[in-house]
Amino acid sequence: MSVKTTCAYCGVGCGVLADVGPNGVAIKGDPDHPANFGRLCSKGSALGETLGTEGRLLAPQIGDRSAGWDEALDLVADKFSAAIAEHGPDSVAFYVSGQLLTEDYYVINKLAKGFVGTANIDTNSRLCMASTVVGHKRAFGTDTVPGLYTDLEEADTVVLVGSNLAWCHPVLYQRLAAAKAARPEMRVINVDPRRTATCDLADLHLRIAPGGDVALFNHLLAEISERGLVDEAYLTEAVSGFEAALDAARADDVSETGLSDADLAAFVDLWLANEKTVTVFSQGVNQSTSGVDKVNSIINCHLATGRIGKAGMGPLSVTGQPNAMGGREVGGLANTLACHLDIENPDHSKAVQDFWNAPVMPAAQGLKAIDMFDAVERGDIKALWVICTNPAQSLPDADRVRAAIKGCDFVVVSDMYDTTDTAQVADVVLPASGWGEKFGTVTNSDRLISRQRALRAAPGKARHDWEIICGVARRMGFGEAFNYHGPAEIFREHAALSGIAAAFNKDFDISGLAEISDDDYETFEPQHWPVSAVKTGGRFFGDRKFFTEDGRARMVAVSHRPLAQATDEDRPYRLNTGRIRDQWHTMTRTGQTGRLTQHMGEPYLEIHPEDALKLGLAAATLAKVDSPHGSAILRVMISDRVTQGEVFAPLHWTEDTCPTGRVNALVAPNVDKLSGQPESKATPVSISPY
Ligand code: SF4
Repeated sequence: MSVKTTCAYCGVGCGVLADVGPNGVAIKGDPDHPANFGRLCSKGSALGETLGTEGRLLAPQIGDRSAGWDEALDLVADKFSAAIAEHGPDSVAFYVSGQLLTEDYYVINKLAKGFVGTANIDTNSRLCMASTVVGHKRAFGTDTVPGLYTDLEEADTVVLVGSNLAWCHPVLYQRLAAAKAARPEMRVINVDPRRTATCDLADLHLRIAPGGDVALFNHLLAEISERGLVDEAYLTEAVSGFEAALDAARADDVSETGLSDADLAAFVDLWLANEKTVTVFSQGVNQSTSGVDKVNSIINCHLATGRIGKAGMGPLSVTGQPNAMGGREVGGLANTLACHLDIENPDHSKAVQDFWNAPVMPAAQGLKAIDMFDAVERGDIKALWVICTNPAQSLPDADRVRAAIKGCDFVVVSDMYDTTDTAQVADVVLPASGWGEKFGTVTNSDRLISRQRALRAAPGKARHDWEIICGVARRMGFGEAFNYHGPAEIFREHAALSGIAAAFNKDFDISGLAEISDDDYETFEPQHWPVSAVKTGGRFFGDRKFFTEDGRARMVAVSHRPLAQATDEDRPYRLNTGRIRDQWHTMTRTGQTGRLTQHMGEPYLEIHPEDALKLGLAAATLAKVDSPHGSAILRVMISDRVTQGEVFAPLHWTEDTCPTGRVNALVAPNVDKLSGQPESKATPVSISPY
């Protein structure tokens, strides 16, 4: 019999049918799942090949030796308790992952914020969509994704901004391609400095200058007004801040887009030609020092035209990770509280504290990812717990982060493997179950909650993350609050808490699932939130009511700002980093199957032919890339998919898979001041033949 589960990788959140047989696990797309209707991409369809147990960590490791669970958990609890007792709750930190299941995420956030009393819990989702969270909150009053994937299919114009959908959200790309094939009059615009595979579907490719997105959407807003296409009735009823946003838009310098007048005119004409317009945005928007402003510049245009809250229109953020949204829901970021409540609002904090019967709550935001590892480097963090992620490879300035972790007094890592760059410098490594072994839920980019289900038991002594976290929490003296019997019980608690959040005029409400039985949780079918006694799924804002104090959406005055660092004579090239089609993050799972390495088998540097000629680089030779933060040696790929002066390198390789290909070691740790999200796509570098 097929097990119905959800893919391990991106935020599309595809449903998977897994057939466990004597010769392995056969994978196919779930035809009934509303995210993919049977489709899968190369990564998802290879999931069955990634379930081998070779190299798995089978028992807790303390230093170089194996240990029992009791000894390891006692040690972790003792070290964290001692640091808190001696140096206070903010001397410890937790760095977690958008690949955790919601139930795991919920309990680690509860432990950190409600029982340790620190907001020093952040997540690799900081690298993914932290700017969108802030942009949504500024515009809507909450971190609300207004629309649904079906809007892509119902739209007449789809604008993709900073999103290589074809490689990074392939099934959404397939859905869009199918819709365009069925309705050839549909128009697709791709806004990206690179000519990516997504351009295959685009009627118009805008090769925007890196960082030029605010100037582009400000130009659009000014043109909306100039052409008399502002929806005055909608603004009067439902929006504030229009005049200030328009003034800022008119004052902005459209030449910062680097686009020709013809391209700009074509963009504005297409955007305005069809009311049913969806603007999809992803890492090219988020991973920027003006990421939040980019998000609001996009939302401003939708609000000014009333193109939100109805079928086939609206801004749509697509998240990178399978459960980035679940992490947002549980409040797993240093600047958020559970259930989309506000961490610095005393009433919200008190309500959560009362619900948890927690001894203490942090009064302020904690350390966001980059700041957290700066604090680790300074020695301010005495105990660090990294769960289901590999910051020593994946954060900007990765060599420095790795050294900081190595120098920390006490580091514990929970992971499936002890070979990750971070596990290699940890004091304790705890074996965790992985995809195909875990039970719980995830939420995809359009607020669809789906079940992940186990196909087999975890190997060796590996345990589920929620069990490990609760084991430590009990040993720290918080037993009563962490005596869960399973994920269903945690889910019910999370759902009940969301009812309290809803009473504070917040969007995240799944209180209708607070009484879900174990059986119904087990057979739970995918469902969009909200789910309460009066609401089920669907779009937000069709009623023109937003989650601000006055119920009106806010347009935000934004202006173009230059990238954090200019190129110069010493570092004349700009490095853009990103994913490739067949690999995922640091390749811990996708690296398990040779099939997925056939597409792109090694780290590479994509460089324009003129630049390669100038540097004396021939195709398939090696280039050395340097920034003030680190170096990498990469295979040369000559292509006019990148423009002159810009280069692209994928970010997947690690110390274990290619020590000279750790591209994040090159990336400067400049962040958006509002969101803390790093600008991972614009580091000035020098390049030379190797
Ligand atoms: Fe998995 Fe994303 Fe591919 Fe769907 S599109 S199969 S969720 S990696």
